[in-house]
Formats: sequence, C-alpha cells, structure tokens
Amino acid sequence: MNRSRKRLLTIMLAVLLLLGMQKLALAQEIRTTSERADFEVYTSYEEMMDYLQQVQASSTEMLLSDFGETIEGRVQPFAIFSRPMVTNPAEAWATGKPIVLLAANVHGGERTVREGLLICIRELATAGTEMNELLDDLVVLTVPSINPDGLVRATRGNSLGIDLNRDYIKLEQPALRNFAQNILLTWYPHVFLDGHNGGAYPYNICYQGPAHAASNQSITHLSDREIFPFIGAELEKGGFKAWYYSGGNEEAWRTAPTEPRISINYGGFINCFGLLYESPRQSRPDGANSALIACRALVKYCARNPEKIKMHVDLARRETVELGQKAQGEIPVQIRTGPKDYKVSYVIAQGRGEEEQIIQVTNADLMMEPIPTKTRPRPYAYILEPRAYKAVEMLKRQKIMIEVLQEETEIDVEAYLMTGLERGPVYDHPASATVTCADETVKRTQTFPKGTYIVRTGQMMGRVVCHMLEPETTDNVITWNAMDAILPRAPRPPAQADQPPTEQRAGRIRAGAGAGAGAAGQRAGRAGAGAAQRTGRAGAGMPPAGMQRGGQAREPIIPIFKLMIPTALPTKILK
Ligand SMILES: [Zn+2]
Repeated sequence: MNRSRKRLLTIMLAVLLLLGMQKLALAQEIRTTSERADFEVYTSYEEMMDYLQQVQASSTEMLLSDFGETIEGRVQPFAIFSRPMVTNPAEAWATGKPIVLLAANVHGGERTVREGLLICIRELATAGTEMNELLDDLVVLTVPSINPDGLVRATRGNSLGIDLNRDYIKLEQPALRNFAQNILLTWYPHVFLDGHNGGAYPYNICYQGPAHAASNQSITHLSDREIFPFIGAELEKGGFKAWYYSGGNEEAWRTAPTEPRISINYGGFINCFGLLYESPRQSRPDGANSALIACRALVKYCARNPEKIKMHVDLARRETVELGQKAQGEIPVQIRTGPKDYKVSYVIAQGRGEEEQIIQVTNADLMMEPIPTKTRPRPYAYILEPRAYKAVEMLKRQKIMIEVLQEETEIDVEAYLMTGLERGPVYDHPASATVTCADETVKRTQTFPKGTYIVRTGQMMGRVVCHMLEPETTDNVITWNAMDAILPRAPRPPAQADQPPTEQRAGRIRAGAGAGAGAAGQRAGRAGAGAAQRTGRAGAGMPPAGMQRGGQAREPIIPIFKLMIPTALPTKILK
C-alpha cells in the first residue's frame, strides 16, 4: 500500500469515527418529555410516538413497528432489538437466544414503568451503552403502551372503561387482543414483563411471578429464588427498595390474584416467565428511575442466564405437550392462596400523613403458595358439538389448535353433571355464569356428528385449553358466556321448587321444548334421535337443554365432553 492510499485510509477512518461520535451525540440528545421535565410530567402518547421515531432514526439496531390499532385508531407501538438483527419470530427462535418482552401501561393511567421503559428503549438502541452490549445475548421486544386509548385519558380501562388486564382469556377488547395475538402468541417470548402502578409504599418496585397452581411451578420458583433477588439487589445499588406485590400487615404479606385473565398468570399458562412490576406511591423521579433500573436489571439477568431461562420455558412447554398427549396428571380447577413454607421480613407504612410510620415486620407469612382445592384429571382432548361454535370462537382467539371430525364417530366420553348455575357480574360481563358439578362424571359412548370439534390438551396452549374447558375454573368458556345457549337448565333446588318465578321460567322452557319449538332445539333433537337409533345405545346423542325423554327430565349434562384416553380420530385441523 503506497503512502497516499494510507493517508486516504486514515482520513476515511477519521471521518467515520467523527460520524459515529456525532451519531452517539445525537442519540444522547434524544430525551422523553418526562426526562426533560425532571420526570415531573408524563410523556404523552403523541410525544412517546415522536420519541420512538427519533430513537429509531438514530440507531441501526432498533426496528420500530406496531402490533395493531386501538378502538379509537391509535397505533400500538413496539420495537425489536437484537444483534444480529432479527425481523420476525422465526428468526428470533433460530438465534437460540431468550426472547424478553418488556411491556407496560395496560392500565392507561399507570405510566411510571412506561417512562423507565422508554429510556431503556433508547439505551438498547444506542451503541456504547450497557443495555446495547447485552443485545448479543438476547432478543428484546418492547411495548411501552399496551393501552394508548387509556393512556390519553389517564384511566385504568380503555375508551369503553374496560380493564384490559382482565381480558387475557376472553380477548374481546381489540387493544389487548392485538397484544396477545400479535406479540405474545406470535413471538412466544420466554419472559413477559408487565409494568403497573400499584404495590405498597415505601417500596419503589413491587414484583411477582405467575401465581396459579396450573402453571409450571419451576418458572415461579426461579423468579422467586433468583430473578427477584437479583432485581432487588440492583435496585438497592441505586438506593431503591423492592419487594413483592401487593401489601401486608404485621402478620402476613398478600400477593396478586391468581386468575389467568390477568397478565402474569396468563404468562404462566402460556409457559413463560410472566413477571409483574408495580411502581408504588413515590416521587415521580424516583418512580421513573427505579423503573428504569428494574427494566435494566431484568434484561441483565436474562443476558447473564440465557440457558437457565430457556431451559425452564422449554421444560414447561414440553411438559404441557407430553401431559396432554398421554392424558396424564391433574388439572387444578380451584385453588386458594396459602403461606409459603418459609417466613419473611419486610417493611410496612402505618398511619396517614404526618402520622405515617415505617414499621419493620419480621417472621411473617408470605401468602403466595397456590394450593389446589379441587382437581380434575387431564383428558386427551375435549369435545365440543358443532352448536358450541361460540366457545370455539373464543378458543380460536387464543390460537389454540382445534380439529374437526370429518365423519360421524362413536367416542367413549365423560361429561359433568351440572348441580348449580349462578349468574352475576364479573368484570365487564353482567351475567357471567358459574356452574357447580357433581364430583362423579357421567361416562357414556356417544356418536358425534361430522363437524364436531376436538381440542387436544397436548399442545403448547394445553394449559389454557384445560382451564378454558374445565367447567369449574374461574375463566372458562362458560364463565364468559360462550356456552349460554347450550347449557342445561339450572337445576331447581328442591326446597325452593314452589317459588313462582322459578316455576314460571321452568314451565315456559319446558313447554317450548316439549312442543319442539326452537330451531336449535329441533336440530340437536333430531341429531340426537338419529344417533340413538343408529347405535342403539342408551345415552347416545344429546337432546338439547330442556328436552325430556320418556317423560323423565334428562340429566343436566354440560356439553363439554372429555376424551380420557389417547385415541386416533378422523379429523382435520380447523382453519
Ligand atoms: Zn395496573
């Protein structure tokens, strides 16, 4: 190489270096509205969108996108980070790295963790930062606002006032359905962080992992044993305190609700680390800074322990599929939360205003152990008649694999006898249904028509399948009114048989069914009679709710049938 070429090369290198430094300086100038105001104001939706676009424009290592639109047409932003860059889920899985999803602001008014996350996004995008260096070891997905319509109103719910963090099973609200379908059930992250404002003063961050007994407990245990202590230590270095969600007294610390309709529990049901960060009452700068440290800490933990994170998720996934394929194990359908088998120490605030005191509590119970109070055996598959199409729609929203019988088939099934049916408001469902069942199931051979739905439990979503199709759980297709048209009539308690309203209602339904009225009733009735003739078996074919046979009230069977042993069936996957 001659001298002039050497000089040219030197100049080119210098120019490149200068350009690089300029780019770094540019990235460092990009600030959220909240940062510019020392965190005393929140970054608005529009400012957040501008900021994300600016960070994107300053970095070659960020891919800004969106995963849908809200009811009011606001775009829901998300960004992908990894090195080398990945652009879609298949590429992300092919890297063999854990996929870590950082999300916040599902409750629109809860904006603190989002402020920390927005800064974390800039750090991930900016060369030379610790966050950016970690991108060699993991894929990071960021969703700073799940609920933009709630964000612009600073409300808990969306524009309809509905709490999106109770919609994870129903997936009825567009913003949350987009998030579940296009992020969680598209990327299948190993870790899913959900940021809120709640928990107990004087802590800066309150955390918790999946709380239901039906999810893989080793995921929850690793969160408790390693991840949260690591995050707590990182926060302590920054002068902040962390402890479990949600609050306590001098005897015990209580934790989050256990229903799978809630983010962290849903995370457990889909076999990932569903982790909660709640930012309790504190100054806004402390809130944003502690949230930032906590976001960084989670990324750091995952980058340092990729194999451990992946192993726990892989085992949980494999366990789900294997238990289903072999039709083994019990499904916890009802649980309570009891104390852990160790004691804990924490601080609580007592009194109000000037009187407020911080009290150290020692040797207290941590009420976080999910204890099954009722279990049911896991079937190989659940079977739904064609008339259960509304329940099938709900299952399909979860991207659950459903098969359809291609020909009439005789199958040995079990079913539950309904002993009670109550209706009452549960979140946005004014007449949510809760059924009780006899402990003994009805066992019968039944002929199912072509078009019957078969839902295997041996699939990635198997835990969700079991919870949604066992009638006695908290969040199933009956709870959320997808079975209303085909449930048996509520049994009349003998003691109240003479009450006029019940009598009147029952009489009306009986009369209608007896006269063969009701299109659905007729269809199912004919199918039932036909099946009975063909097979010549008692109990084959199901008359609809309210039908009578031979003058006797028929058994109030819930039309969700369980196939208890692995059985080959003439099916095709439902498109
Ligand atoms: Zn919240």
